[in-house]
Amino acid sequence: MNTQYTRAVLALGSNLGERNDTLSEAVADLVDRPEVRLLVVSPVVQTKAVGGPAGQPDFLNMVISVETTLEPLELLRHCQAVENKHHRVREVHWGPRTLDVDIIVYGDLVSTDPALTLPHPRAAERAFVLYPWSLVEPAATLNGQRVGELAAKAADYPDLTPFDGFGDFDGMPTAGAV
Ligand code: AMP
Repeated sequence: MNTQYTRAVLALGSNLGERNDTLSEAVADLVDRPEVRLLVVSPVVQTKAVGGPAGQPDFLNMVISVETTLEPLELLRHCQAVENKHHRVREVHWGPRTLDVDIIVYGDLVSTDPALTLPHPRAAERAFVLYPWSLVEPAATLNGQRVGELAAKAADYPDLTPFDGFGDFDGMPTAGAV
């Protein structure tokens, strides 16, 4: 058994149902085992759905940092079990989903395995991951660049909007904020 804790960043998104409740419960579920300890929780941001069918509801997105003794694939299975618990709908590729959980980084691990690609292959171009991450871990880097700088360059950056449930996030993100 692995007794070493590794830091991992998880991205959560929901655009169906009671989106904020789902995210709150998912965070609790993800850390509801002794092998996973919660370190950091980002604010929730609201994001236009990227790709997939037109007219689907906006996403709520957030990231958490954890430290875990789970091996990478065990952590993936755990994330998928939490997705399944929340009745994730997967009928349409990139369509609406109750809950999506991705592993963004697992320590410094680099993997090209399609079952678990690390760092997550699309994270560096997703402001809905990078921006909330930069708010709570401004020194974090991905592919050698600050996550806040990557967020500002991402195509979906202008699509981030305030989420009413988060009072301090009072407008569009600005370069100074990241
Ligand atoms: P998606 O439907 O976009 O959430 O993709 C899920 C699929 O991506 C699963 O089959 C995973 O095995 C695979 N996958 C590859 N890399 C990752 C990652 N870093 N985090 C989560 N799922 C991943």
